[in-house]
Amino acid sequence: MSTSASETTAESVGAPRTIPRPTSESRYFWDACARHELVIQRCTSCGRCWFPPSNHCQYCWSEDFAWTPVSGRGELYTFTVFRRAYASELVEQIPYVVGVVELEEGPRLITNITECETAHVRVGMPVEVVFNDIAEGFTLHAFRPREDPQSPGTGAV
Ligand SMILES: [Zn+2]
Repeated sequence: MSTSASETTAESVGAPRTIPRPTSESRYFWDACARHELVIQRCTSCGRCWFPPSNHCQYCWSEDFAWTPVSGRGELYTFTVFRRAYASELVEQIPYVVGVVELEEGPRLITNITECETAHVRVGMPVEVVFNDIAEGFTLHAFRPREDPQSPGTGAV
C-alpha cells in the first residue's frame, strides 16, 4: 500500500528484464499491451473467449475469432509469493507476487500482482490491470488491487 503506481512503474523502467518473445499467435496481444490495452480472443462462431492466445477457439475449434478489448477487471483466483529471485534480474523485486487473475470476461491470466503489500494479497480480491513499460516498445501487464463499489465491506473479514 505504500508503493504508488508511478513508483512501481519507475522501478520497472530501465531494469534489465527478459522480454517475452511474441509468437504469431501472441503478437497482437503484446502489441496491444504496448498501447496499454488488454485484449483477448473472442470466437465469432460460439462467442466464447480464451487465453492464452491460439489460432483456434479452444471450445469449438473454429478458426474465426476477433481480438476484443476487455475490461481489465477481475478477481485473483490464486497466487504465490516469490521470496527468492530465480532470475538475477528480479533480485530487486523480491518479494513479488505471481498470481492467476480471472477476468470478468472469463479467461484466466498468469500475471504479477503489484501495488499491494504481500501480506494483504488474498484470493478473491478485486483487481484491475496496469501496464509497465519494461523496455523500448515492450510492455508487461500486471494487476493491482481494485476498490469494488459493489462490495464496500471487502477486506473487513
Ligand atoms: Zn468457439
